Amino acid sequence: MQAKHIVILGSTGSIGTQALDVVERLNRAGHAMTIVGLSAGRNIGLLTRQIERFAPLVVSVAREEDALALSERFADLIVLFGSDGLERLVCFPDVDLVVNALVGAIGLSPTLTTLSKGRTLALANKESIVIGGELVTKVLRENGGTILPIDSEHNAIFQSLLAGKHSEIERIIITASGGPFLNIPLEELAQVSAQDALHHPNWSMGSRVTIDSATMVNKAFEVIEAHYLFDVPYERIEPIVHPQSAIHSLVEYRDGSIIAELAASDMRIPIQYALVYPDRVATDLPRLSLEKISPLSFAPLEMARYPAFATVHAAGVRGGTAPAAVNAADEVLVKRFLGGEIGFTKIAQGLQRILDRWKARDVVEDGDLSLARILDVDRWARKQAATLNL
Ligand code: NAD
Ligand code: MG
Repeated sequence: MQAKHIVILGSTGSIGTQALDVVERLNRAGHAMTIVGLSAGRNIGLLTRQIERFAPLVVSVAREEDALALSERFADLIVLFGSDGLERLVCFPDVDLVVNALVGAIGLSPTLTTLSKGRTLALANKESIVIGGELVTKVLRENGGTILPIDSEHNAIFQSLLAGKHSEIERIIITASGGPFLNIPLEELAQVSAQDALHHPNWSMGSRVTIDSATMVNKAFEVIEAHYLFDVPYERIEPIVHPQSAIHSLVEYRDGSIIAELAASDMRIPIQYALVYPDRVATDLPRLSLEKISPLSFAPLEMARYPAFATVHAAGVRGGTAPAAVNAADEVLVKRFLGGEIGFTKIAQGLQRILDRWKARDVVEDGDLSLARILDVDRWARKQAATLNL
């Protein structure tokens, strides 16, 4: 069997480390997976251990000084750095699959570059699609690359879409666990701590996506992501609260049939799906025990509990650079919340104020959306959110 040559961006993060775990499992089971390149931000200790274990040809790190230190330590390794390093990494020769597990807006440019080379992208970095959906769609159309979604909901939708034709889709239903604050009294929300918010009931993830799950910003991002990935209008994409997280999402067809994907709440399952697609291979990863999870329950999203959902959703529907503004603002507001500087409910208030300011900027957005304009709004919103008096 021919080996699959893989690059992983964000290899030291929650998704990145799980992707490497899946690679090791697949190799043990006789599916040849070769790690060609890895990238990480600042966790050089972990990256060093990964280099020793997976022997990549090339790595990229955020800072030049870390790159120099790694070059000294590993004589044969090609070491790159910065955003240019990420670009060069995804263009490295003979790569079959790029896994983008970066967090935040920094993921967009490598996503576009990977697809512009017509390559296959296993995508966890949802911000790529949230802020750059229009650009990504265009690059895909022009260069014929492929996106295999890793985000569990989109992976479930991707699988459920195999059951019918695009023209037969009635609606996409995205499940949401409700996060840690599904049942606490609304008046207590303002007082919850970062520690409370970081305690997700079903999934263990990076800190930003965990807070975004508590505010439901994550679910609004996922609606935007689904809109672009599957080319379905916003009015046909609905969130639903499903606290057990057993059903990862559903597609309803026009004949009334609803197709769902269920699995254990373990991101390595959708990661493996993307790594070996279009095959399915045996795994010893956790399995869903239907007897243990039942009964399954569903409820509408309570808007008073999750006001940030409406704000971010509105930004998605508005399009242009509005999603970039709320994404950047959210990144900063989540950091301010985690640092103890603002309360939990201020994240939603801050997002609405940044979206209002974005509207008030009154910039005419004619012509094609460009990466430069998205990144310009990203910088603007970051500054606004950092100094917003909340
Ligand atoms: P994380 O914070 O655990 O990891 C992020 C990775 O990006 C790390 O390796 C970090 O070193 C790297 N990174 C950060 N800034 C960088 C920079 N400036 N330059 C280079 N590398 C940089 O995040 P995560 O939870 O693994 O999430 C990754 C993406 O996957 C996010 O978009 C998230 O929304 C999405 N996602 C995650 C999960 C999950 O279970 N963790 C589930 C669904 C979707
Ligand atoms: Mg998700």
